[in-house]
Amino acid sequence: MPIALLLLAFAPAPASASAALEAEVRELERLSVTAPWRESGAKIEALASRLDALTPDQRHRVEFVRLRNLALAGDQPAALAGLTGLLQQDLSASLRLRVHATAINIAANVEDWSLAFALLGEGLSSLGQDPGESARLLGVASYLHTLVGETGKARELALQALGLVESGSDPRALCLALGDVALAEDHARNYREAETWRHRQIEACTRAGDPVFVANGKYGVGKMLAGQGRHAEALEWGRQALAEFEAVGFEAGAWSARLVVAESLIESNRGLEEARALLIDTLRYYREQESDLAIAETRGLLARLAERSGDLAAALAHFKEAMSAAEAAERDARERRLAYLQVEFDTRLKEQQIALLQAEQELAALQVTATKRRQLLLWMGMLGLLVTAILLAVLLRRSFRERRRYRWQSERDSLTRLYNYQQVRKLGQAMFARARETGRPFTAIVADIDLFKQVNDRHGHAAGDEALRSLGAWIGEAVDGRGIAGRSGGDEFTILLETDAAGAEALLQRLRARIGPITVFGRTFGFSISSGVCQADGQAADLEQLIHEADQALYRAKHGGRDRVVCANGEAQEAHGAPAAASASAGGLVVVGSGIQFGRHVSERALSEIREAEVVFCLADPFALGMIAGLRPDTVNLGLHYAEGKDRRQTYREIDAAIMAQVRAGKRVCAVFYGHPGVFADVPHRVVRKAREAGIPARMEPGISAEACLYADLGIDPGAHGVQSLEATQFLVEERRPETAGLLLLWQVALAGDLSCTRFHAEREGLQALVDRLLRWYPPDHEVILYEAARLPIETPRAERLPLRDLPDAHYEEYTTLVIPPLARGPQGASTPVDPAPIPKP
Ligand code: GH3
Ligand code: MG
Repeated sequence: MPIALLLLAFAPAPASASAALEAEVRELERLSVTAPWRESGAKIEALASRLDALTPDQRHRVEFVRLRNLALAGDQPAALAGLTGLLQQDLSASLRLRVHATAINIAANVEDWSLAFALLGEGLSSLGQDPGESARLLGVASYLHTLVGETGKARELALQALGLVESGSDPRALCLALGDVALAEDHARNYREAETWRHRQIEACTRAGDPVFVANGKYGVGKMLAGQGRHAEALEWGRQALAEFEAVGFEAGAWSARLVVAESLIESNRGLEEARALLIDTLRYYREQESDLAIAETRGLLARLAERSGDLAAALAHFKEAMSAAEAAERDARERRLAYLQVEFDTRLKEQQIALLQAEQELAALQVTATKRRQLLLWMGMLGLLVTAILLAVLLRRSFRERRRYRWQSERDSLTRLYNYQQVRKLGQAMFARARETGRPFTAIVADIDLFKQVNDRHGHAAGDEALRSLGAWIGEAVDGRGIAGRSGGDEFTILLETDAAGAEALLQRLRARIGPITVFGRTFGFSISSGVCQADGQAADLEQLIHEADQALYRAKHGGRDRVVCANGEAQEAHGAPAAASASAGGLVVVGSGIQFGRHVSERALSEIREAEVVFCLADPFALGMIAGLRPDTVNLGLHYAEGKDRRQTYREIDAAIMAQVRAGKRVCAVFYGHPGVFADVPHRVVRKAREAGIPARMEPGISAEACLYADLGIDPGAHGVQSLEATQFLVEERRPETAGLLLLWQVALAGDLSCTRFHAEREGLQALVDRLLRWYPPDHEVILYEAARLPIETPRAERLPLRDLPDAHYEEYTTLVIPPLARGPQGASTPVDPAPIPKP
């Protein structure tokens, strides 16, 4: 297919301008495509004289027509230069496509393949809104691809062009697109398909009123029929095409049609002379055109004709010529393909470079994002660190304060705020050693309130406490930082001074003068103190010895009538109106509780009693026992009376006897019992009672019981619903009826049902019997709690919640308590459990 035919294919873009000039420009465009295009020359000149009146777009369109005419007139290099120049201008989208397509065709015509493919690449990248122009450019693209042997790609581009115009209303665009598809199939040697497409082309082009492309379609049908060996039919179509090309004066088309006619005549073996005449003319024409491919085809047909005529020598000569022309055409084709591949390669390279640049750009963007994110994380991390540092600082400050508070508490006596027994000893050791080293005098004072029990008895313990507090303050004032003062226990105080005995006595004088009457709850009373003084004179081996000497002096002061100072190093001091002398302290019994956690729960008073007593008994857990033994190494462990398999009643009798023996012997006895000494403990009550019956003073100091811990740990207020607190065995044996609206506490549940009083471990039968009994009042899924108080500050209390029915399979300690929450009245009168608060961590 000659390129010239394609130049004719460009239709004007539809325009809507109504101005006269616009009408003229459009008329020019119409003329330029509806041959003869030379007629448009005069029109161009007419318009060129009025160039100033044209819009830039109109000028570009006129220039385009002029350049195309130039190409059709044969000056293709000048036309190509003009068109590439025009492409540098600011063109409308559809004109740009049109210029591209025309420039590509001309570049192909002058065999500047590199330029053709480069322009094609540019043009295809600017395919736009205008489907007609876009289809045209795709058509050109398809044609160029057929020329470089890319038939598959050519077919694809042609079908793409067809797709753009198929549904449109431009019959001419459809006519051209169908021609392109047919041509692509032709080059792919799909003769039958190409024939079908050519028929569609003829139909569409007839409808579009384009005689050139109708003739072209017919030529195509003829060629495809010839290709299929249907020469008689091919002859008919070829002749029709030839006549129609001649009628419209399209020479290039006519010469192609002549080749089809000549081939059909030769192959159908009729009109060989007519064929020869046609081929000789055609060969001349193509020689003028220097079209190697067409020459090769014509020579081939001439060789075939000579062969048919029996002139084998002429046939061979034509064949050789055909071969050399074909070789030349082949060279051209290779050149075209090389140019195509070069452009393709450059384009790919460019695309890859662009992709690379884009990737680099994306990478850079990602790096920016990553940097920002890193910075954000860094900031957040720093903020986190700052917050942590602040929190740590706050916690450290708090913990520092707490430690200071704990230290203060561990060193001080909470009632008088003076040092406690241990701290006086600790600080005193250092002071004593220093005095020895420096040779300075060192004196110990032990002071004790006279007949303090009477103060308690007459005015109450609160008054006694107030007396102790006041004396503590007066001692503090008298010492005034010049020594160490502490409460050693009960109503006894120790003062250590870096002075001699005279200085100590002077201080005691001031102190005694300061002691005045105090008023508590509206009642005023006074008291005096007795003191023992001992100066270190080299005899006292250590501080303990020195304090012991001072204590002995105090003893003498008491025996000497109280309210006085006795100096171990010398003579007794004067007495100032001492009250009636009292006898040495009589025996008595005090029962105190160790609490559940001895370190936390034991009261100051209990500690004081433990220190003061002549005999200390203890029945407590090993931790409490250990701590009490620390205070009083001579503590008698009552736990030794227990034994596995031994009747607990016998154990109780023995404990009772042991305590009472000492009480009756006139000793000041302190018996320490675990928790509260009077709760679930028969012996403490009994010994107090017995002592009193024997006329010996006896009393009981309360302690913190397991029940008290239970309320605190489980968050239960016993006052909310009321409480029944029973031993589990007692509950079973006495067939007690629980008050289900209140709380039920069953103690020593592990030993439930142990009437022998010899067991220390849980037994399933006893527990099952207990559950069976409870099921009379509680539903089996009623949630109960197994409670064990924490005995050490590091322990967590046990508060295991489980359904009532599961109790026999649970784990028990000897001291496990069963807590049965009340049944609440539901809306329908149904009982539902009232849930106590959860246990907090210690
Ligand atoms: P004496 O003149 O022989 O010292 O007779 P006294 O009655 O003072 O006998 P003693 O010193 O042996 O008695 C000390 C009493 O102090 C025993 C105890 O009841 C009481 N006591 C101990 N610690 C405290 C306490 O913290 N507060 C109160 N109010 N009394 C306590
Ligand atoms: Mg006393």
